[in-house]
Amino acid sequence: MKSTMHAGQGPHFLQIPGPSNVPKRVLQALSEPTIDHRSQQFADLAIDCITATKKVFQSEQDLVIYPGSGTGAWEAALVNLCDPGDRLLMAETGHFASLWWDLAERLGYKAELIKTDWRRGAPAEELAKSLEADKEHSIKAVCVVHNETSTGSVSNISAVRRVLDELGHPALLLVDTISSLGSIDYRHDAWGVDVTISGSQKGLMLPPGLSFNMISPKALAACQERKRPVSYWDWQAQLKMSQDGFFPYTPATNMLYALREAVDMLLEEGLENVFSRHKRHGEATRRAVRAWGLETQCQTEEYSSSLTAVRVPEGASADKVREVVLRDFNMSLGNGLARLKDQVFRIGHLGDFNDLMLMGVLSGVEMGLKRADIGTQSGGCDAAMAYLNEAAVGSS
Ligand code: PLP
Repeated sequence: MKSTMHAGQGPHFLQIPGPSNVPKRVLQALSEPTIDHRSQQFADLAIDCITATKKVFQSEQDLVIYPGSGTGAWEAALVNLCDPGDRLLMAETGHFASLWWDLAERLGYKAELIKTDWRRGAPAEELAKSLEADKEHSIKAVCVVHNETSTGSVSNISAVRRVLDELGHPALLLVDTISSLGSIDYRHDAWGVDVTISGSQKGLMLPPGLSFNMISPKALAACQERKRPVSYWDWQAQLKMSQDGFFPYTPATNMLYALREAVDMLLEEGLENVFSRHKRHGEATRRAVRAWGLETQCQTEEYSSSLTAVRVPEGASADKVREVVLRDFNMSLGNGLARLKDQVFRIGHLGDFNDLMLMGVLSGVEMGLKRADIGTQSGGCDAAMAYLNEAAVGSS
């Protein structure tokens, strides 16, 4: 579609479900002078980062920070724990779960993928059937995506933990929180997760570039039994040095300044407040979607608070909506991935985000739907505003 209008002045609205908007405080921290990564000043920074970031995982266990994307942290978790040929059990909640499965297969693991219709979280009852059938306990790890970014569905991690406990199955529990950490309540320790995988560019309000493995004592013990060679991703090398605030390679110094600032911001707001802010924005968005007469991709109550994937009616083009809002309002929305291509657009409502930003985003979507001739009803913004007023923060 040729551009016929100019969106004019004002900021770009980056409303894809991550990378999310980076707040000014974090951008300023990024611009600190780079320092000697073998100095005590650096070690103090790294230790501060590790100590504070653990709080966001709601964990007191071991944290490894990699300069790398979320995909690297997926790989790190698997290669530290499993030897080629080991069995894994995964749930295909959407595109990202399916990419993780593909990565596992390419690394030589035998990964069973429980299929879903991509409209719900991981089915604990289906995982239970495979685990129950595994009488020899040959499944080494169960891998679940907490917040499926391609569909906007959340998996119930404590339900998966319960299944493992009730069956007495010793498999490790690995959870991807790349698009939920710092947005949706997540409890590494309380939910008995063995490795939590995450990334910097979504709820943590940082640019892309850092990723994380939060590691339980059980996972650390399993890592010592693994035979496959591991170098760059090696937890043991990393943890040995990070006790004193150092890395076995040149760290991403400026991203660590930014991480410290971003985590301070989250802790200043209070994690409970961060989670309820995201919940409220998710609910307001869904009310707008319903008023437009559209469906969310997630069809159960397992809605994501960090993004909403919106289905357009049969025969309509979700990409056309995205093109119109980019052209006319300078706003980026997420596209439909893989089998959802052109069927959904995704609204990111995570990170550095508030009520008025949400209303700007929903106004842009409502106008974009009209201009793209999707045939929707108006009133989505009214419905969202009514909810935001009803559930106003600080109102008595
Ligand atoms: N897992 C989830 C849930 C994601 O949303 C993403 C990226 O958006 C990834 C994994 C892959 O992370 P990255 O693109 O940082 O490698």
